[in-house]
Amino acid sequence: MPIATVNPATGETLKNFDPLGPEEIERRLALAVTAFGDHRTRGFGDRAELLTRAAELLEQDQHDIARTMTTEMGKPIKAAVAEAAKCAKAMRWYAEHAEQLLADEHPAPADVKDSGASRVTVRYRPLGVVLAVMPWNFPLWQVVRFAAPALMAGNVGLLKHASNVPQTALYLEDLFLRAGYPQGCFQTLLVGSGAVEAILRDRRVAAATLTGSEPAGRSVAAIAGDEVKKTVLELGGSDPFVVMPSADLEKAAGTAVTARVQNNGQSCIAAKRFIVHEQVYDDFCERFTAGMRALTLGDPMQESTDIGPLSSEQGRADLEELVEDALRRGATARCGARRPEKWDRGWYYEPTVLTDVTEEMRIHHEEAFGPVATVYRVGTLDEAVARANDTPFGLSSNVWTRDEEEVRRFARDMEAGGVFFNGMTASHPALPFGGVKRSGYGRELSGHGIREFCSITTLWHGPESREAAQ
Ligand code: NAP
Repeated sequence: MPIATVNPATGETLKNFDPLGPEEIERRLALAVTAFGDHRTRGFGDRAELLTRAAELLEQDQHDIARTMTTEMGKPIKAAVAEAAKCAKAMRWYAEHAEQLLADEHPAPADVKDSGASRVTVRYRPLGVVLAVMPWNFPLWQVVRFAAPALMAGNVGLLKHASNVPQTALYLEDLFLRAGYPQGCFQTLLVGSGAVEAILRDRRVAAATLTGSEPAGRSVAAIAGDEVKKTVLELGGSDPFVVMPSADLEKAAGTAVTARVQNNGQSCIAAKRFIVHEQVYDDFCERFTAGMRALTLGDPMQESTDIGPLSSEQGRADLEELVEDALRRGATARCGARRPEKWDRGWYYEPTVLTDVTEEMRIHHEEAFGPVATVYRVGTLDEAVARANDTPFGLSSNVWTRDEEEVRRFARDMEAGGVFFNGMTASHPALPFGGVKRSGYGRELSGHGIREFCSITTLWHGPESREAAQ
């Protein structure tokens, strides 16, 4: 895949980039190691100052970088501005909380007495150079939610961003440099996915995080496994959105539209499968379809646009194949299922609602990465849970109910890294984020995220240490 900015709203190639050669990659790896030697010894106060400065700069730049993101991958401009603001907020959150999240732990003396220790401390120390392989869909946020905690923990980062967002990738390196981070603390490597293996196998790289598709995750995890290096994987999702009879239907249907089409439908945590109790099925379908039809599709640079183009021609072709397969096998399109006539340039696809979906259809098992929803009718709570879990993925889930007994059941039984009741899944700096099953493993954000790339180090002191300390 060429490294280039191609505007998805027009199909026009705006800028090409040459990938880094082996010598430049080598230079940057060496720089990363030197930077780590210094950054790991920096105190939390200094690290927080740097990250806060990066947040300030990002806030100043938010409209410019938003335009770059929209140009590179097509998200509506208002969502791009919101993404930049969210990144600055997450940076500030980690600047403020990292020291406390990584504070030394002291096991109770009574618990460790028979280990012979006079004193024990558990310390979170940084791992080193971490490789981040990232996707284009939230080109700033995916990187910042790795970089902010990693840098606060004392690690340094190497970013291999998706090949279609090179200008956003370069902006990130520049942002951290302007904030005052020394050269090498955060570097962007403009390389294709073929270069990842050699970088990951390099002894100077300690660990890797990948957000992206299952095949990419499998490949990176296999290589890292072979090298016995830690990985965190944030992969695809096909989140269920369950609506039970006690739900506030108007709110549920309105939120369902947003949850499905956010980021032009290209979000891992978008609700993709709508599982609706038969008592409210017809009413929900009507409201939901009306909401999907009412969306404004168009130029992503316009504030009034709800849905822009998909990020690539291939992405749209993949989505079309899923929909066509479903229609061929008997699904009903309540709306959409076609390219819009008006927007014939660029990679647009109309918001689509499919019902009568069956297990034979590919879309039942695969992730629909675009504004296409499937709606299922269920008769009981057990059926709703079974349908929700009938997927290889387990990223997050949404449940609409005001029945406390149902809340307990869904909280216990949903196979997902999150269950959001009467609301829509969203990431937040203080909440753990990640999945189970084929959605990956490990967590980002919160204290769990920052500790993923730490060495949990036991500092054990024998009786003589006490004497020495006295
Ligand atoms: P992708 O094709 O897997 O690309 C993601 C990143 O991996 C890119 O930097 C890509 O580089 C690289 N890559 C691809 N194949 C690779 C390989 N074999 N070895 C090493 N690196 C490789 O995914 P995408 O199409 O950009 O993103 C969409 C997917 O990401 C969806 O499945 C979505 O659900 C998932 N996602 C998950 C989360 C989450 O938090 N769980 C968040 C966002 C997106 P190139 O661009 O150079 O190919």
